[in-house]
Amino acid sequence: MSKKVVLLPGDGIGVEVVKEAEKIISYISKRYDLDIQTESHLAGGASLDAHDIPIKDEVIAACMQADAVLLGAVGGPKWDNNPSEKRPEKALLRLRKDLGLYNNLRPVTVFPSLKDASPLRPEVVDGVNLLVVRELTGGLYFGQPKGITEVDGEEVGVDTMRYSVSEIERITRAAFEAALCRRKKVTSVDKANILASSQLWRKTVIRIAEDYPDIDLEHMLVDNCAMQLIRNPSQFDVILTENMFGDILSDEAAMLTGSIGMLPSASLGEGTGMYEPVHGSAPDIAGQNIANPLATLASVALMFRYSLDHEKAASDIEASINNVLNAGFNCKDMSRHAREVLSTSQMGDKILATLKDA
Ligand code: NAD
Repeated sequence: MSKKVVLLPGDGIGVEVVKEAEKIISYISKRYDLDIQTESHLAGGASLDAHDIPIKDEVIAACMQADAVLLGAVGGPKWDNNPSEKRPEKALLRLRKDLGLYNNLRPVTVFPSLKDASPLRPEVVDGVNLLVVRELTGGLYFGQPKGITEVDGEEVGVDTMRYSVSEIERITRAAFEAALCRRKKVTSVDKANILASSQLWRKTVIRIAEDYPDIDLEHMLVDNCAMQLIRNPSQFDVILTENMFGDILSDEAAMLTGSIGMLPSASLGEGTGMYEPVHGSAPDIAGQNIANPLATLASVALMFRYSLDHEKAASDIEASINNVLNAGFNCKDMSRHAREVLSTSQMGDKILATLKDA
């Protein structure tokens, strides 16, 4: 049965890294006889330039009908001063909303060959393998009322942190299900000593945990979690948290690996899943063929695991990335830790050759 994957390369290095991903998807499709059809569309600044809109309705429709979406990155200085409706990031927000992507998974793995690359001591990051499960469509970023108004002659900015039980329930179940396939530990992160939304969060997580007797559940305040991620990151298996806490903690966790160019993500909901590297469009290095494509290739592995139902393809890609790193290859962002520095396209080719040899 054929599968459809929509590619949204976007802007800057997004275009370069998605090109490498296409090579891998095409090879895996042939190797496992999966008949994967890919089609590319414009999103972000590229779409603004061509159509004066961050993403067209037809592109959203194509994504909704696909089995998976792979996004590079959107944004760049060219569009930084655009009004809010004409900003490249609007494409991302619209995709998250229209595809109902409430579940953002960010695996953080410190590869043995790269533990010296972390800003923390190697013995602190040794063996780190954690998964941040971040709620993506609720909380402070979406709650109403929101905005800047004038009160008594001065401007006041308001954001609202709001969560309903059903929103908390579905992300909690997603985290517990993910933990069942891992080391079966969930750390639920909140600020229940102060925030009402966190008190409801904790109460709901405790109730849902009754359905998962095999999971070892702990609760941690967000400020303590920020500290523990630096003090002893290998204590974590699955970190379950709301939107803004997850945004901040996952970037902190990302730095344990030494480069943002290594981190994949998956955003899941009821329908099509979307996969993307954690990094942005990196305008400072765009067009030079030096960006690290590994975060995008690891995102392709997640796509095979969660949307294309092919665990073998996912683990093949992950094993190839590990083998290439162990053999001493890396890109310029990790050059201090490489015996040989590869360009973007050379790294894509190296992963492909390693896959073919496996
Ligand atoms: P960035 O992630 O693009 O870059 C931060 C730094 O990391 C830069 O020095 C860059 O060169 C480096 N870097 C990032 N990815 C790399 C890779 N794969 N290989 C090697 N080096 C890499 O973040 P930024 O500079 O804050 O943002 C640039 C643009 O990207 C902005 O317009 C921002 O809005 C956008 N952005 C988009 C997304 C997304 O599309 N999901 C996410 C974050 C930022």
